[in-house]
Formats: sequence, C-alpha cells, structure tokens
Amino acid sequence: MPIRFFNTLSGKVEEFRPLDEGRVRMYTCGPTVYDYAHIGNFRTFVFQDILRRHLKYRGYQMLHVMNVTDVDDNTIRNAQAAGLPLRDFTSQYIEAFRVDRMLLNLEDPELVVRASDHVDDMVKVIQTLVERGFAYESDGSYYFRVKNFPEYGKLSKIDFSGMRAGARVDADKYDKDSARDFALWKAAKPGEPAWNTPLGPGRPGWHIECSVMSMKYLGETFDIHSGGSDLIFPHHENEIAQSEAATGKPLARYWLHAEHLIVNGEKMSKSLGNFYTLRDLIAKSYKPSAIRYLLASVPFRKPLNFTFEGLHQAEQSLDRLRNFNYRLKMEKFPPGESSALAERARAAQSEFEAALNDNLNTAEALAAIFNLIRDGNTAMDQGEFHQGDRPLFSDVLTRWDRIFAVLEDNDYDKLRKAGFIQEHRAESSVPQPVPDGQGTLRAEILSDQEVETAIREREQARHGGDYARADQIRQQLLEAGIVLEDTKVGTRWKRK
Ligand code: AMP
Ligand code: ZN
Repeated sequence: MPIRFFNTLSGKVEEFRPLDEGRVRMYTCGPTVYDYAHIGNFRTFVFQDILRRHLKYRGYQMLHVMNVTDVDDNTIRNAQAAGLPLRDFTSQYIEAFRVDRMLLNLEDPELVVRASDHVDDMVKVIQTLVERGFAYESDGSYYFRVKNFPEYGKLSKIDFSGMRAGARVDADKYDKDSARDFALWKAAKPGEPAWNTPLGPGRPGWHIECSVMSMKYLGETFDIHSGGSDLIFPHHENEIAQSEAATGKPLARYWLHAEHLIVNGEKMSKSLGNFYTLRDLIAKSYKPSAIRYLLASVPFRKPLNFTFEGLHQAEQSLDRLRNFNYRLKMEKFPPGESSALAERARAAQSEFEAALNDNLNTAEALAAIFNLIRDGNTAMDQGEFHQGDRPLFSDVLTRWDRIFAVLEDNDYDKLRKAGFIQEHRAESSVPQPVPDGQGTLRAEILSDQEVETAIREREQARHGGDYARADQIRQQLLEAGIVLEDTKVGTRWKRK
C-alpha cells in the first residue's frame, strides 16, 4: 500500500515516492537554541520522529538532517543578555535539546548540524545569488530581490504581486504584511558576533542557513522538508526562493507542516509566554513517555489543544497499554492457539499500518491497537486466550511500538541517565525518599530496580509470616508514589 502525504507545496494529498529507490532524504528545521525547547516545538519534533520511524518501518533507509539555529536575532540577543559568547551560550541549549530528545525517545537524525559551522558555505551561495542577479548589497548587508523570483509565494499561496519592490526587511521573523526583500547577510553591528568574509564583516540571516545546510548534505533536490506550520511563511518560502534561484532546481519535493500545539486557543510560543518546557512538566511529575504519547496522539495536520486533563488521559492510556503487555508476558494461558485471535491480531496490524500510510493518521493507528487490547483482555478474562496466541499479539504490539515508542516503561532510568535524579543509597534495602538535589522534581522517585528489590523483600517477609514488615514495605513504597497490586501472577506495581 502506498504512503500518502499532504504536501503543502501542491496543496494536495499525494503518493510518496522518493527520488532514490529505498532511500529517503529529509531535512527538518531544528530549534533555535536561545532557550529550552517547549512542548509546542516537541509537537513538531515528535511528528517528525513518527514520520521517520514509519518510513523506516516501511523499509526505507533514512538520511535525515536536522539543523540547530545557533546564530540569529534571538540567539544573539539572549547571549548578550547572559553575558556569554554566542557559541558557549547556544552550546548549553544544544545539549539540553539532546537530553530532551533522549527523554522523549526521539531517534537521532543521521546528522545534526550547527548553522554557525557553515558560514563559508552560506557566503558562497550568497555570492552565486549576487552573480545571478537575485541578491544585492546595501550598507554592507545583502538582500534577496524578491521581484526577480516570480514564483515567490508558491508554498504559502500568498499573492505578493502588489508588494513594493526594493523595500527591505532585516528581522529574521516577520509576517506577510511586512514581506519585503529579506536579509541574506547582515552587516556587522557593534557588540554582535561577526565573521570576516569576502562579503565583508557580518553574519548570516536565518533563512539562508537552512537553504545551505539542506543542499550541502542532501543535494540540490531532496525528498522531504518539514517544520511547524509557522515556518511556511516566511522561512520556507524564503528557503525555496534562495535555493531555487541559486540552482534552478526544485529544493524539496514534499513539504510537510505540523499544525500547532495550542493553549486556550493560542499557539504555544515563547513570545506569548504560554509555554511549558519538557522540564516544567517533568517537575510536575509527568512522565516523558506520557508527553510523547499525548503529542503523537493527534494527526499532524490538526491543531492539538494542550490541557493537563489530556496529559492525564495519556497517562491512563499508557497504563492500559502497558498492563496488557504485562499480562501478555506474565500470565499463564491454556495450551493451544486460536485462529480467530490470530486473525484479529493481523487485522489490527493491517489497520494501524493503513492508518499511518494515510498521511500519518496516528489517531486511527492508536485506535487500532486499543481495540486489539480490548479484545485481547476479554479473551484472557474468558479463558479463551492460549499460549500459542502470545507470540502473534506480542509481535503486533512490538511492530506498532517501533513507531510509537511508548511501550517500555523506562522513564525513570532515562531521567536518572539525564542527571535529573541523583543516585542515592538507603541504609535499609527499602529505599527511603530523599530530596533529588534539583529542588524541582518529586523527591521520592525510586528506580525500577529499587522498587523491584523492595517488592522481593516484601514477598520474603510474607512467606516468612512477617506480615507487619510486609505491610510496612507496602506503606513505604506508597509514600514513594508506588502502588502495589497483588495478582494471581505475582505483585504488579505502578507509579501513582
Ligand atoms: P523554533 O525553535 O522557533 O525555530 O521552532 C522549532 C520548531 O518548532 C519549528 O518547526 C516550529 O515550527 C515548531 N513550533 C514552534 N511552536 C510550535 C507550536 N506551538 N506547535 C507546534 N510546533 C511549533
Ligand atoms: Zn529552517
């Protein structure tokens, strides 16, 4: 079954066919590293992760390049405010972004590149644009001459025919009302970082960065270009103008834009101040996997309204998913197998695959798996689930999770790895709640291993008839946010 995507450039849903058989070349605009990324940004990054995981699932080899914008108006302004050299200032947020990606199970792109490492390449492209009559100099800055690129507006579908020729805009981010000749290169200003180049001292504009880095690693024409819908204009429109004016070839063939994460009807954004970072939500004890689940649950072309109620529901859905997976692994079933259940499992697989092929309809892909879980649970409750049904159900869940990546409950190990939770050793084998040293996270977080050790100790106490000790351990775990449930197949636990 073909994969189909809505392509912003054509305005239509189209069958996806990469230029090279079996290989997809994709560029995604990464964060501007002047602060922590917020979960609105991660809505787009999670969508792009699902996209690349689905393409890999379908057998494509990926060459995915993501940039980080580490030189633009915002990074320069905030580095100055922090009193740090630009590179040192942005490096700390690049590292924070790497940690956040790890927490959210975002696969690393094949290449993550920094704009400031590519200034020489940008200068060359700007020189080509000057030679071809698409760029001009004014007071040491260089601008793209929009009127010489008649296709300007083809991505955003905005009619610029009435635009005043020769008027200029210097800001990196602007709206369509201030559409003008835009800056490719900005003349050095006192106190701002500058590069000495054949164009004179200065620094690149934001848009040229992505044009140059994408073409350098992916070729003049590549398969997919993606970002949030706020990038359609001016950023991607300008990228198309710069690249296509320089090469005479189409830049990217499929343009995929994610709709925004919104809060109370408005786009989540740093400038509006209505944002949460991943760290803010972790400090409120939400698991990164629940955040990933929530962000992945709405198809990318629909806005996603962020609420804590929604996040809470995402946690509950994850619990259902993981409980079923646990049952599947641990419960004893009668021998044999059932052809009806095998058919049911394969149908669910076809459904979730078809949903993802259909412009990445993640909501339907989730529904397919939850329907399977419902039927699986019913069969188990009624004694109709057999040992021989286990591998097929496991296989379907594992396949689904190659794309959604939320099944494994390893948030706490990852938080520990990220340095969010300090290692601690308690005197008793039952760990005691300790402050985490960050002052923000829930103090009583125990690792999975610590919980399991405590549960074993409780079981030994119970077998030895020491019920007081067993109850004490249960109580201590409860205070640490761990709920125990004694079942036929042993003690299960979950975090509150
Ligand atoms: P920036 O750091 O502003 O360059 O943005 C990084 C990525 O996040 C871009 O693809 C943006 O389009 C995207 N983005 C920014 N705000 C939101 C939002 N509220 N919802 C979804 N994506 C967003
Ligand atoms: Zn970009």
